[in-house]
Order: sequence, then structure tokens, then C-alpha cells
Amino acid sequence: MTTTVDTPTDLDRTRFFIDGAWATPHGSETHRSVEAATGELLGTAALGDAADIDAAVGAARTALDHGPWGHTSPAERAEVMRAFAGALAKRATDTSTLVSRENGMPIGMSQAVNGGAPVLLLKQYAKVATSLDLETVRPSHSGATIVRREPVGVVGAITPWNYPLSLAMMKIAPALAAGCTIVLKPSPETALDSYVLADAALEAGLPPGVLNIVLGGRDAGAALVGHPGVDKVAFTGSTEAGRIIGAECGRLVRRCTLELGGKSAAIVCEDADLDVFRRGLAGASFMNNSQTCTTQSRILAPWSRYEEVVDAVATYASELTVGNPLDPSVACGPMASETHLERVLGYVEAGRESRARLVTGGGRPAGLDHGWFVEPTVFADVDNQDTLAREEVFGPVLAVMPYTDEDDAVRIANDSEYGLAGSVWTADEEHGIELASRIRTGTVGVNYYELDLGAPFGGMKSSGIGRELGSEAVDNYLEYQSVYVSADAMARRREEQA
Ligand code: NAD
Repeated sequence: MTTTVDTPTDLDRTRFFIDGAWATPHGSETHRSVEAATGELLGTAALGDAADIDAAVGAARTALDHGPWGHTSPAERAEVMRAFAGALAKRATDTSTLVSRENGMPIGMSQAVNGGAPVLLLKQYAKVATSLDLETVRPSHSGATIVRREPVGVVGAITPWNYPLSLAMMKIAPALAAGCTIVLKPSPETALDSYVLADAALEAGLPPGVLNIVLGGRDAGAALVGHPGVDKVAFTGSTEAGRIIGAECGRLVRRCTLELGGKSAAIVCEDADLDVFRRGLAGASFMNNSQTCTTQSRILAPWSRYEEVVDAVATYASELTVGNPLDPSVACGPMASETHLERVLGYVEAGRESRARLVTGGGRPAGLDHGWFVEPTVFADVDNQDTLAREEVFGPVLAVMPYTDEDDAVRIANDSEYGLAGSVWTADEEHGIELASRIRTGTVGVNYYELDLGAPFGGMKSSGIGRELGSEAVDNYLEYQSVYVSADAMARRREEQA
């Protein structure tokens, strides 16, 4: 028997960020982080267990209940958040390169979503923090009621690998604005970039225990969800895991928000400009090699223009440059891991075995044998009951299907257990906006699809519960408390405050 011993790399990470310092893991399990484009070792990272989670929750609890953070004003928190944004901005180039190497995201996009977006989010929620109305007084039947908004408490945040830093920050930034403390458990697939957050938090002077990061797998995630010191769980990931986490939170009566999977549809109307549609496919269907929850993998086309649409999608897919995501000319990088590649190829196989017609792609691209590449693939004539139309592929495999009229298109789009995203392509934008209201998804794009950090984002049906982003997201991290005060006491209070 031979044992492979990995040569240490600059990216090896052996400790966790707990209580503002680097903590030694309780166990000895590690994760091998492999570069998606080459299959070569990037570095190893320690994997945490329930004892590490316990230490992190303890630190977050103390920082909230006994530390300075629980008593900071929104303005003080905003200042810390701006310093955190500055420290992350300095690291933006390194961060985006690292994530591209970990999960295959094309570098230009990584610069925007892993380098830029976390900084923007911190600044956005620093502003929100200072505009929060945390106390109002309203008259009551026999006195007055002070309505307060308080931090929900310790937040357990669990994130996936596809947009690791922006998804983490979509939880951390509003939680900090509200005055919460946080334990983040990132996904092992993107283990290494989470250390950038810790480095930046240290440099920015976040008080100890306010943000704690413990890398780990499913068991560490489950330990966080069930820990008695956690007040709220913020989860992004698969619907399968979301069901388990939601059930546990229900049992514990623990607050939780769930951002889950999708199987979104793009409706191409009779009057659509196919050039606009073709250009829009980058944002709607192929973002991050289609390893995106909002991927519109069902393309609905009217019979009258069906072959035209099939041709437009297939041509676009076949012309995408597939390759190393660090090359700025590459539009489609590899899948994040070998396991994920196998999963995506399994869906290609399911398409081949169905009655659907393979129009382009259908396997691994020639000449890219190292790394986890898959050809952008398009199937036409897919039935909406086929596996390819029901299940989330999370890779560049699209299904085109025909519809008879607009009602039929809406029916097919809504005939899904998911309800995350969608789009409408039409020359009549007013009509597109109206049509959007018939689609049961949390977001809909008209003639383009691009996430807006300033507006609520999330899913209907099995795509989740709750919303992130926008100023509304702070509500996830605040609790109401109503204090009933007699008329006399209220009058005395006013006098004292005058
Ligand atoms: P995943 O559900 O396998 O894992 C997500 C995270 O949850 C990881 O950190 C994992 O370790 C942890 N986890 C898994 N099972 C758990 C459990 N039972 N208890 C506690 N923690 C658990 O998802 P993934 O493969 O990392 O990510 C892809 C999925 O995420 C896709 O379904 C995608 O649609 C979804 N996603 C949704 C959004 C959104 O905003 N709606 C955004 C990005 C990704």
C-alpha cells in the first residue's frame, strides 16, 4: 500500500478564526483543496467538528452578551464595517484569483462578485445601520408602548461553494448592522478563501468573537444549526439540506432563513429580439459556468419561433470559450470538483436517455482532460416532466422546450417545485413586466437578468424562506420588543429626556 503525502503549500490553513485569534482545531481531519482547472493540490485546510463549533458559538455568545459589541451604537458598528470593507478591498485581487482556482469561476466575474461585492455589501449595510429606526413610541389604550428593535442574537451562517464570499457577506453585513455576532461555517470546496475574511476582520479590528469562522462539512453544519447558543440560522445551499435544516429549526423554534436551489425558466416571447436574448444568456443561463442558483436552465420558446430559438441557444453555447478560468478570454470554466462534474455528466446522460434531442455539447471538451470541464450542452424537445426539466443540474446543461401560447408558457414556467428566478424576453417591455407578475419566483428579469444587491432576493416554494439583500435583509437579524408604559411613567420619561 502506498500513502500519498502532500507537499505543504503556501495556502495550507491549519487553524480557525475564533474569538479574534487563531485557534487550534479540536480534531485532526483536513480537506484537500484541489484546483478545479488542473486537478492539482492548492492547499489543505483543517475541518472542524462539534467541539470547534462549540468554541466559536461560545465566543460569539460572550461577545454579544458580555462584550462591547452588544452595547455599540449603529454608528460605531458602521465605522467597524467600513474598516472591514477597506481591509477586504485591499485583498480583492488575491481573493478573486483564489476563488476562481477553487471553484472554476471565470476571473472577470470573480473580481466582481468575490472581490468587489463583499466590499459593496459592507458599505451598503453600514449605511443601513445608521438609518435604522430602532425605537419608536406609540400611544396605547392606557399609556404608551415603546417599540424596540434588538439584535436577534448569535447567528449561525452556513454557505455553499458557488459564490463563497458574496453569499457569506450577504449574511455577515446585515447581521453586523443589526448588532448580532456570527459564526460562519463555509463549504469545504471553497475552504481557503474564507481565511481572507478572517485576515481582513483581524486587520479591521472587529472586536473578538463578533465574527468566528470554522470550516467544516455537514456534521459541523448540523452542530451549528442545533447548538443551544445560536439564535438564528442563515443558510444558503441545496433544497435537500435546507429541508433538514428547516426541520431542525422548526423543532427548536429557532429563527431561520433558507436560500435554496432553483430550476428557473426563461420565456422567449413571440416578439423577442433574439440578439438581445442571445446576449442575455450570459447572465441568465451561463453565469459562473451555470453553477448558479438562478440559472435559467429551462428555455421556453413559442412553436412559431422554436427552431430559431433552439439554434440561437445552441450557437451561443457552442461558441463559448471553455478553459482555465484565470484566462480572461474564457467564458466557461470547469466544474468546482470531480464529484460535481460526475453529477453534471449524470444529467447529460439522463438527457441522452430521454426522448430529448441533443443539439450541442454532451460530454467533456476535447483536449481538457485535467480538471473538471464539461461542454456547454443544449437539449431540445425536452418534456417538462423529464429529469432534465425537474432537477437542478448546477452546470451548463440547458433544456429548450416549446409552448403553444403565453398561458401555456406561464403554466410550464410555474410547473416546478422551485420558485427562485426567471426571465421574460419581449419587444414590449411593459408587457414583460406584467407577465413577470404571473411567474411564481422571487426575482424575474425583463430582457436581462442581473442580481441587484439593493433589492430583496430569495425564493418562493421549495427555493427557500425569507429574503436576503436590500435594506429589508436587516429585518432577518432584528427582534421586536414592545415595552408597555403607563401614561404617568411616560410623562416622567419625557421630562427626564427633555
Ligand atoms: P449543499 O446544500 O450541499 O451545502 C451547502 C452548505 O451546507 C455547505 O456548507 C455544507 O457543508 C452545508 N450542509 C450540507 N448539509 C447540511 C446539513 N444537513 N446541516 C448543516 N449544514 C449542511 O449545497 P452546495 O452543493 O454547497 O451548493 C449548491 C446549492 O446551493 C445549489 O442547490 C444552489 O442552488 C444553492 N444555492 C442557492 C442560492 C440562493 O441564494 N438561493 C445561492 C447559491 C447556491
